[in-house]
Amino acid sequence: MPLTQWMTSLLLLAVPLGMAAAESTPPRPNIVLIFCDDLGYNDLGCYGSKEHDTPNIDKLADKGTRFTDFYVTAPVCTPSRASLMTGCYPRRVSMHEDANGRWVLFPGARKGLNPDEVTIAELLKQADYATACIGKWHLGDQKRFLPTNQGFDRYFGIPYSNDMGHARANSNYPPLPLLRNETVIEKEPDQSQITRRYTEEAIQFIKTQRDRPFFLYLPHTFPHWPHHASDPFDGKSEGGPFGDTVEEIDWSTGRIMQTLREQGIAKETLVIFTSDNGGPTHHGSSNHPLRGGKGNTWEGGLRVPCIIRWPGHVPASRVCHELTTSMDFYPTLANLAGARIPEDRIIDGKDITHLLLGEPGAQSPHIAFYYYRVKALEAVRSGEWKLRVKSDTPQLFNLRRDIGEQHNVASRHPLIVKRLQALADVARRDLGDGDRKGKSQRPADYVNEAEPLTRGK
Ligand code: MG
Repeated sequence: MPLTQWMTSLLLLAVPLGMAAAESTPPRPNIVLIFCDDLGYNDLGCYGSKEHDTPNIDKLADKGTRFTDFYVTAPVCTPSRASLMTGCYPRRVSMHEDANGRWVLFPGARKGLNPDEVTIAELLKQADYATACIGKWHLGDQKRFLPTNQGFDRYFGIPYSNDMGHARANSNYPPLPLLRNETVIEKEPDQSQITRRYTEEAIQFIKTQRDRPFFLYLPHTFPHWPHHASDPFDGKSEGGPFGDTVEEIDWSTGRIMQTLREQGIAKETLVIFTSDNGGPTHHGSSNHPLRGGKGNTWEGGLRVPCIIRWPGHVPASRVCHELTTSMDFYPTLANLAGARIPEDRIIDGKDITHLLLGEPGAQSPHIAFYYYRVKALEAVRSGEWKLRVKSDTPQLFNLRRDIGEQHNVASRHPLIVKRLQALADVARRDLGDGDRKGKSQRPADYVNEAEPLTRGK
């Protein structure tokens, strides 16, 4: 049989098999993950904001599912992002503090996310996805830790926080770098243009993906301080400079959705919109009705907006109150992409495909969720209960009846306190607490001599 004929017969054979598979499992979607920096629980119209005009993001919620009990694993950048990339608690991958015990990485850090970890980008790449990271990375600025060495085909962005350059007078940081892949292309870029430039890069990436599915990770620089927005948004929001950046991100989200429609792939693309940690209220964010915010383990620190849209699969105009986490994207997206998650290590995230697809009676797979502040375990949630374990006397809150954590009901529910204390002990043994090491932690990675990406003025 000539080769072409032989291949045709193979294809004919393959078609019915492929069709059968399509009936039982959803098709492999493109994935767009929009990740804000410091966007709080009440900073979007669809979560109750009266100050920020966010029609495009609200439309995502209209056409998709909005999660009310979605958590990141830390109330600051670096550890939260380590979890997003690895599906693990920060302490699991030892990214809960920098080499000097500080909470996030700083320019020229010796430490970074261990290249031995298999990131979500590496998983999707193995499943033949094209991958791009456009925006803030913050998991190490040395070459071996950069996105292009952690599963992303390409990178464009400011690799850490936008206040880690010359934003402050008397700053000792080197100039803020803008990178393309591993090369610094600008120092101290005009931050008012950053959201616009990220958006253009994202659109270009989407437009060039024709033959295979893609994973676009878009971790915005904003609304992290210092706040800068381009002309059409600067000074326009009722929410002040913070609101200006939120509204420009809303514009960006609208442009990305428009591009997906123009390319005819809006229905084949799963879009996630969320944030890395709760809002800093002193910078104009609101986490209402939650207590606390960025930097602490009250609900406002770790509970953030999360919207997921995938027409025909993720139900529209739905609100999901089940406990979900940013770690869950790892096994869930791997499942949807047909990627295999590593079996030689613990992954803390759970596959929440059943919750995404809105299966009747679907429940959170999490028995417990742990709130760490730097290295200390401070609280545990199980079901509707949250126990703060840091104070001498335990503080118990019923998050269903008391979302603002105002009423400590520990004395009325001693058995629940005991059950949650036992769950906290599980985390202490497994992940550690304070200077106590956990039995199943994996190491981060270090370079001997770190070089800052930029020097001089
Ligand atoms: Mg942040």
